[in-house]
Amino acid sequence: MSNCTIGAKILSAGNEFLLFKNKDFRRKNFEDRLVIRNGVFAVEGTESWVDRSVEVDVFSGFSIAVNSSGLACCDSNVKMKPGAKNYDILTQEIVEKCKSVDDAVNVVEKAVHAQPHSWGNIVVATKHEVATFQVADWVEVFREPVQTVRTNHHIEEGRRPMVYDGAVGSIKRYEVARRLLEKVKDVDSVFDVLRSHEHGLNGFSICSHGTLSTVYGYVVHVKNNRVVFHACRGNPCVGKFVALSLDFDDEESLRMAGQAYPSRRRPQIRYSANARFPLKSRVNCLVPLGTVGKFSQKEGSCEKTRVYC
Ligand SMILES: [Zn+2]
Repeated sequence: MSNCTIGAKILSAGNEFLLFKNKDFRRKNFEDRLVIRNGVFAVEGTESWVDRSVEVDVFSGFSIAVNSSGLACCDSNVKMKPGAKNYDILTQEIVEKCKSVDDAVNVVEKAVHAQPHSWGNIVVATKHEVATFQVADWVEVFREPVQTVRTNHHIEEGRRPMVYDGAVGSIKRYEVARRLLEKVKDVDSVFDVLRSHEHGLNGFSICSHGTLSTVYGYVVHVKNNRVVFHACRGNPCVGKFVALSLDFDDEESLRMAGQAYPSRRRPQIRYSANARFPLKSRVNCLVPLGTVGKFSQKEGSCEKTRVYC
């Protein structure tokens, strides 16, 4: 069982958008694994949501990702189907192959038509539009000019939606997130959405506590063609969002961003064979948001990593 709250909002048409996700697992802690390769910065997906040793976590596809075309994508579980392909694979295919929502429609429809997939919601965002793909035995696409939100059920007109896989508070979280997102005007206010305890310190709130805990909060912010990936390990109400600027033309800076990411797992970084980048030691750039971040030239590696604080 996993709860997740996902969504996206265009802040300035043709220029700026946010995409966000709170990842809630039936375990208190989780260590993300990054994939950085071929113009993609991604957090791997997993189906090992319950508590177990990290050695046996099973990764497949992407949970949230952004690419060098400025397309961002994330997903949430609705219903696992034994023997079916994981919807995280669809999220991976979208960021690896697509520049637009039109591209994503083609990729997802083709994939789901060809092979059964577990049911999920996938949010795709570009600076031009946002969309949600409801993946079931078929695909429904909801294209929106401003914002979209999903949790762990499929939106259906005219009757109460079904909630599967023991998801908690899916309808409550959906309604709160949709209402709060309407007021969001910048990154700080979307952090407040991810910290929301509107239904108390439990799994009914977007910041989930209890049996289902928010193990990571994420915000992808694209503005003026610059990409910043914000990640918070643990509940966003108590954790700190670390901001990682992603320059897809500078693979060394991507490497440094991967090293500064809040996880103890080693990122999976793959460069082209002829790329030459000097190995540098791990740099601790995890400066909490809210502090004044002025990196001097002396802190050259921090400068390179461009961790905004
Ligand atoms: Zn909280």
